[in-house]
Amino acid sequence: MTTSREIMEKADRVIAATYGRFPVVLTEGRGCSVRDTEGRTYRDFVAGIAVCNLGHAHPGVAEAVSRQARRLVHVSNLYYTEPQVELAEWLVAHSFAERVFFANSGAEANEAAIKLARKYAKEAGSAERYRIITMEGSFHGRTMATLSATGQDKIKKGFDPLLAGFDIVAFNDLDAVRAAVTEKTCAVLLEPIQGEGGVRCATRAYLEGLRALCDQEGLLLIFDEVQTGMGRTGRLFAYEHFEVAPDIMTLAKALANGLPMGAMLATNRVAQAFGPGSHASTFGGTPLVAAAALEVVKALVGGGIVDHGRKMGRYFMDRLRDLQLRHDMIREVRGQGLLIGLDLRCDGASVVKGCMDQGFLINCTQGHVLRFMPPLIVEKDDIDALVSCLERLFSELSPG
Ligand SMILES: *Cc1c(COP(=O)(O)O)cnc(C)c1O
Repeated sequence: MTTSREIMEKADRVIAATYGRFPVVLTEGRGCSVRDTEGRTYRDFVAGIAVCNLGHAHPGVAEAVSRQARRLVHVSNLYYTEPQVELAEWLVAHSFAERVFFANSGAEANEAAIKLARKYAKEAGSAERYRIITMEGSFHGRTMATLSATGQDKIKKGFDPLLAGFDIVAFNDLDAVRAAVTEKTCAVLLEPIQGEGGVRCATRAYLEGLRALCDQEGLLLIFDEVQTGMGRTGRLFAYEHFEVAPDIMTLAKALANGLPMGAMLATNRVAQAFGPGSHASTFGGTPLVAAAALEVVKALVGGGIVDHGRKMGRYFMDRLRDLQLRHDMIREVRGQGLLIGLDLRCDGASVVKGCMDQGFLINCTQGHVLRFMPPLIVEKDDIDALVSCLERLFSELSPG
């Protein structure tokens, strides 16, 4: 049998070194837990970075995938397939949107949104309108267009020249957006809650202000809900918390609970700028992945999982606020639903490692923000166990 050490050594020889990985080889999962080659189990508060919202090895998804795989995995988008249509219909029925374009990832969904925003401006007779305002600290993906849109220098370094046409301004600052609008601007793109940026939440006044500004200036408002969508924040889509609907929204991560799928949703008025030949994807909305996503959306809403996640999010947040009272090194607890950040006054890497040693997978972003995004089926005892682990680690890190 190949040992985990051998697998890791081999990986270091043949896999592009784009990820700093933890020294574990994961082999299986169930619900909120994953297991490694050594037989150790971990409670998973990363969930594929907000991907496996229904937990690992979800029986309904597994069944849907295997049933569809025996029937029809893929045909060209030159033909109709039923799972894709049903999924689009569900998304339209449960959101502001009227049309859906299917892609395979978050970056691709955002690419589609950027292309649609530019095309819409052209169709509206504004040939010179192509610039998009985005936010500092944002994350929109790693393709050339989406990294150009991203407001973090470390992600762009070494890839010049970037795609032109993005104006990056301070997050949560309406005046900064207002000042950046020119006759060339066609859209404003942002995450309602910045995930990679450190779980930074937009305020309601800010999003309401952006909506009004976009309406007044004839700009499209685009929400990147790749991370916040599909129940992650306690509502199906984060924009519902703010009661501010965008013109375009992108989804991916949890849409098919781990199978690769992205989607760009838009109103009819905007989507009509895309006609046959405007945009395409070989794999977008393939029957296999759409069948999985159909199971996901039904479980999230019909199965009450979004509601459960919202309750667990409140409980988790309360427990962390309580922890903050006893530990000075916690600067802030923030987030919504089960997208929670613990902003530390110290480096987060040792806490992540300490958690891992005690059987918990957690994430740290921006160096000092612990980010928790467990499956939405997480239970109180999972949360209690993690909070006790954090309590022990924080006590060790600053005794007395
Ligand atoms: C993860 C993420 C993306 C990129 O998604 P990929 O599937 O990795 O391309 C884009 N936007 C946000 C907000 C994300 O969290």
